[in-house]
Amino acid sequence: MTKNKSITILGAGISGLAAAYWLQKEGYEIQILESRNEPGGAMQTESENSFLIDFGPNSGLETTPLIRQLVEEIGFNDEMIYASEISNKRFILRDNQLHILPTGLSPFLRTKLFSVQGKLRLFGEPFIGKSEDGYYQSIAQFVKRRLGQEFLDYAIDPFVSGVFAGDPHRLSVKSAFPKLYRLEEIYGGLVKGMIKGARERKKRAEESKQSAKMFSFVDGMQSFPKAIAARLKNNILFNCTVKNVELISMSNESKWKVSYENNGGIHDFSSDYILSTVPAYTTADILGRLDPGLADHLKEIYYPPVMVLYIGFYKKDIGRPLDGFGFLIPSKEKKNFLGAIWSSTIFPNRCDDDKAAFTLFVGGARSPHLFDTEKEILIDNALKEFKQIMNIKAEPIIIKERMWQRAIPQYNLGYIEHENYFDKFEKENPGIFLSGNYRGGISVGDCVKNSESVFKRIIEN
Ligand SMILES: Cc1cc2nc3c(=O)[nH]c(=O)nc-3n(C[C@H](O)[C@H](O)[C@H](O)COP(=O)(O)OP(=O)(O)OC[C@H]3O[C@@H](n4cnc5c(N)ncnc54)[C@H](O)[C@@H]3O)c2cc1C
Repeated sequence: MTKNKSITILGAGISGLAAAYWLQKEGYEIQILESRNEPGGAMQTESENSFLIDFGPNSGLETTPLIRQLVEEIGFNDEMIYASEISNKRFILRDNQLHILPTGLSPFLRTKLFSVQGKLRLFGEPFIGKSEDGYYQSIAQFVKRRLGQEFLDYAIDPFVSGVFAGDPHRLSVKSAFPKLYRLEEIYGGLVKGMIKGARERKKRAEESKQSAKMFSFVDGMQSFPKAIAARLKNNILFNCTVKNVELISMSNESKWKVSYENNGGIHDFSSDYILSTVPAYTTADILGRLDPGLADHLKEIYYPPVMVLYIGFYKKDIGRPLDGFGFLIPSKEKKNFLGAIWSSTIFPNRCDDDKAAFTLFVGGARSPHLFDTEKEILIDNALKEFKQIMNIKAEPIIIKERMWQRAIPQYNLGYIEHENYFDKFEKENPGIFLSGNYRGGISVGDCVKNSESVFKRIIEN
């Protein structure tokens, strides 16, 4: 075990904080530099009147036991909450109607979400062979080939916007949905793979994304990174924007010197290791002088703009039951927003009992052009459509919006070239580690998993 080694961690989002916690426990001297004035990164919770507003992730999926372990270790058990049973039900909009996304054979046969031809096409999946060029396929090509156009349009297209705010024609199946890709690659098909994959996951004590429990915290998602940060003693410096990293020689050894800006002044300090968890475009600026090729790769990663629109109504004004997670809107339906989460139905403590809270998503990789429209008009359009779908006649009692100019990294076609370059960079620059949501998955669960794997790589170094 390497004790008393020092490490500077760039960024206090969930990726940086989880790794910092394990490294501190292992005896490393840690220092986190964060440009904002609080921990959490994309996990941002605010409250107003009785409304608890998550502007970033509204929930996470417990796809790994690491999340529960971390929660327990930091003594945050009583704060973790799971989604209500009813929120297993999800809706998809088709022809201005909300249809339940079927989860079993009999609801699938009965649903009007898919046509008879669309359903029959799905049954052909086990007989479709492997693709020649599977590696460089978009999720749209992959799904169209295996499951047909209608399943792509009314299941995968909305699902992809729900997870990545992404465009299925550009996202790489191999990089963005590695488990789906593996099902074909290893088992020859999705149905065959799902049966065998379930057995493998059982052995690894992992949960599939379909069966993993959805969690949040009593005081919202940001309370979790805040609680981790509180266990990191005083090792986080806020309002410190990292500018540069370079290798320097100190007596007989070399160290990594980090320069950062705080209060208009430039400061620096040195450490044995660097773990960067800041977004790809920022990492490009910080590490670009060490390796311009790395900067080129990082800058190519597209982060589409997304507007999060949080709205609340009195329950009495909502003309349909709030009996699910919310709904997603396929591109074909041509609306001004991607979907809506029925936030107060999923978790308790999101607003007073006589009110209901909703989170809408606008834009994403599918429709970044929407932001050419004036903000007020855009909000008005989305709100009108939402009210029509939900049969609401009244005006909202709260509207809050948050614009994410660069929301979520898109693992688009060719992402494998970036991934290979990241591996090469780490080999050529021993002591620097790259992590964060542009590597190994964008979900909160994936970020925690990736943090553990980078932690292991660091301690084995
Ligand atoms: C709108 C939205 C909704 C989402 N919904 C979900 C969801 O429902 N479920 C889910 O699982 N995931 C969701 N995600 C994805 C998930 O929240 C993120 O992928 C994850 O939180 C990223 O964590 P991270 O630590 O890797 O990066 P970040 O959270 O981005 O953290 C990086 C940190 O680096 C800091 N930083 C940047 N530049 C510098 C610098 N130069 N110097 C120092 N610090 C710097 C930033 O301020 C930030 O704190 C959502 C994301 C967004 C944006």
